[in-house]
Amino acid sequence: MDTIVFLAHTESDGSLAKASLEALTAAKSLAEGLGAPLAVGLFGADVAAAASAVAGCGATAVYGVVGGAFDVPRYATDAAAMTALCQAASASIVIAADDSRFSRALPGAAARLGGRIDAHVAALEVRDGKPVATRGFYRQRMAAEISRSARPWCLTVSSGCFAAYAGAPGQAAVTAVDVPVSEAMARTAPKAVIAPSADEQTIRPDAKVLFVAGAGWTKKQADGAPHTAEAGELILGFLGACKASLGSSKSLVDMGGAGESVLPFLTHLHQVGQTGATPRHAKGLATCCHGEEPHVVGWRFIGERRAVNLDPACGWAQGKADVLYVADAFAVMRKVNELLG
Ligand SMILES: Cc1cc2nc3c(=O)[nH]c(=O)nc-3n(C[C@H](O)[C@H](O)[C@H](O)COP(=O)(O)OP(=O)(O)OC[C@H]3O[C@@H](n4cnc5c(N)ncnc54)[C@H](O)[C@@H]3O)c2cc1C
Repeated sequence: MDTIVFLAHTESDGSLAKASLEALTAAKSLAEGLGAPLAVGLFGADVAAAASAVAGCGATAVYGVVGGAFDVPRYATDAAAMTALCQAASASIVIAADDSRFSRALPGAAARLGGRIDAHVAALEVRDGKPVATRGFYRQRMAAEISRSARPWCLTVSSGCFAAYAGAPGQAAVTAVDVPVSEAMARTAPKAVIAPSADEQTIRPDAKVLFVAGAGWTKKQADGAPHTAEAGELILGFLGACKASLGSSKSLVDMGGAGESVLPFLTHLHQVGQTGATPRHAKGLATCCHGEEPHVVGWRFIGERRAVNLDPACGWAQGKADVLYVADAFAVMRKVNELLG
């Protein structure tokens, strides 16, 4: 029988990230579907709070690798902690979030354990008593179903595909797993964390709404002139007021490279579409964006879609949006921001 192990690292405040709680839901439902035991493996500076947060998940055991060396993301210590936790729990199926730490170090742990790994899993089910993982390829255009007999089988789960575990906290006895840290393992040391402030960070996977800006924001408007500065203010005003996530069309982010007047807060990381990202927000609002297929293909996981465009024949009108407002996005967003206060 398989033993399912959910792996997570703590955040700097000792909590578990939402992506990890989503991976826990995946692990828990797989264990339930297989009728297999579930164990939890945690690592970080202190795992007590995280263990208490997952105490009600039905795990038969909670293992912890604890120490300052495991607080920071670093391949050597992360891979060692992951390997030791899997060994301690006799893991045969390992499930973790596909965040940067697991994406980097779990493949190494899988190799050390003589196992296999599949990443970016979007769904897990039990068929004929066997686990089957689904993931997308070619920008989610193809869905592959993967099953393996090799064990341990490590799986990293994409965020936004499972509901975050929200069981009541409780008491969990943590079995300590010792991982000696040699000097060589810790020779990579973080000196500082340089991160944009919450307001500067406009890609927000956990936001309720995705706001997409298209090239129309920088084009000549009815008065014959572009109003790029005002466009920037309106977009940032909206993002600041409702903490939406920002996406962009390719045309708009490409303009930066072409030396045209652009919105300075946009980068290629904001691009949504065939050659960009495929976000998973519940709602999306496209503004000044034509809604061409290579762009809209990136909206496949967006629940409710709305668009604002001057052109009643734009792509969004061709069945690609639930609601198309044929209107001037400058006027609409000015009013929306006013209403948001
Ligand atoms: C191989 C390939 C891959 C591609 N990959 C991607 C991708 O990943 N993502 C992507 O986005 N594109 C991609 N594209 C490009 C895509 O085909 C489109 O060219 C692009 O999405 C157009 O961007 P846009 O809608 O912002 O600009 P435009 O086509 O210039 O549209 C601007 C829109 O703004 C509207 N507008 C102007 N002013 C206002 C106003 N005041 N109020 C309301 N509306 C206004 C106009 O009516 C117009 O519809 C790809 C193309 C190819 C060939």
